[in-house]
Amino acid sequence: MTEALLIDDVHLVSPGQPIRRHAALRIESGRIAWIGPREMAVPAERTLSGRGALCLPGFVNTHNHTPLMIVRGMVEDLGFAPAYTPGIPQGHWLSNEETFLLARLGQTELLMAGCTTVVDYYRAPDALARAAMETGLRAFIGGRVMDADSAALAEGRFETDKALGESTLRDSLDLIARWDGADGGRIRAVHAPHAPDTCSRGLLNEVSHLADADKRPVHTHLTQSRLEVEQVRAREGMSPVELLDEVGLLNPGLFAAHGIYMDQVDIARAGSAHIHLCHAPIGNAAFGAAAPVLAMREAGVGVTLCTDTKSADMFETMRMAIVAARVRAQEFVLDAATVFGWATEGGALALGLSDLGRLEVGYRADLVMLDPAAPNLVPVVDGCGILVHAGSATNVRHVFRDGQHLVADGRPTQLDLEAVLRDAQAVADRLWARARAV
Ligand SMILES: [Zn+2]
Repeated sequence: MTEALLIDDVHLVSPGQPIRRHAALRIESGRIAWIGPREMAVPAERTLSGRGALCLPGFVNTHNHTPLMIVRGMVEDLGFAPAYTPGIPQGHWLSNEETFLLARLGQTELLMAGCTTVVDYYRAPDALARAAMETGLRAFIGGRVMDADSAALAEGRFETDKALGESTLRDSLDLIARWDGADGGRIRAVHAPHAPDTCSRGLLNEVSHLADADKRPVHTHLTQSRLEVEQVRAREGMSPVELLDEVGLLNPGLFAAHGIYMDQVDIARAGSAHIHLCHAPIGNAAFGAAAPVLAMREAGVGVTLCTDTKSADMFETMRMAIVAARVRAQEFVLDAATVFGWATEGGALALGLSDLGRLEVGYRADLVMLDPAAPNLVPVVDGCGILVHAGSATNVRHVFRDGQHLVADGRPTQLDLEAVLRDAQAVADRLWARARAV
């Protein structure tokens, strides 16, 4: 048993609950052991004064590809999937070590932004798991499985690359064998077929059988682009949602990113299957799209939020979820309390963690404290409204995961931040030099 910590003088903001002002919260053995008015708190071995800070559950950020930080700031104006464009560093140029260094940067950013649970997936998943081991995040790692020939794909055709399918599946199974349950269950491995337009029906079938057998969650992209819908219709005579249903993947164990291009039939089908959506409002909006998230929720889809490597800022994402829904509906829909629930408890439930995402006794002590002296966080009235509509990742001062103090006064406690930044910049310099020389 670790020593008890008392967090004193915080305003607690937890989904579905009114704000609790000037509260104290006691952490023991990685869990919230007591919550009450600060006057009633029993002293603990350690005390951290919040000085009136807003305190909320750690964010659950359900879809990221941290090594793609490499192209950040350089591809946003280039259109869809610029990673496959000449002149841009290619993912397959990255060595395992370089993938690790980029993932470590991305995950450090996520941690410092208050995300305590993240889903990270890309090629070389072993490097992502190693990064999670260092950064201290609760991580769900996926090894990207696909068997589409990328040269044909770039021309809009689907051709099966059997060797790629076999090698990515092998990497994914190796990841599961090696990393699932690491560090007391903090690191978990999920199945991660890339998307319906980059996986053959045969490969999706294979993943479905594996998931049936081991009951592991399945993460994928779904109806991310019009191109995907057209290609799957031409190839299979059905929508991507129908295809996933046919291969047995459309069920509550599926958490799918984007979900933009779904018609009414797709939405009803996804809803009655109770899949989970990883809603990426910023990435979607950048391509001129807004997912039908409210219709999906109405139909029975569970909603979670993700930053999808565009940034790590879940405040920005919550805000954008509201804006995108209102633009789509041309109406005053959605509110701060709802998106705050998606960003915390919604994500936890999608990942099967029923003791995460709220500030309640018995829950895991994943929590974030914001800067009590930040002008943008005043006035505090209900707490939730201001953090959603005016908060920023830069307001995060303290981050705890399972009671471990991973960010203190805005600095990671277990990482050499300067080295994380320097090493990632060096990888970027090498790769961009190579891209420009091609
Ligand atoms: Zn993605």
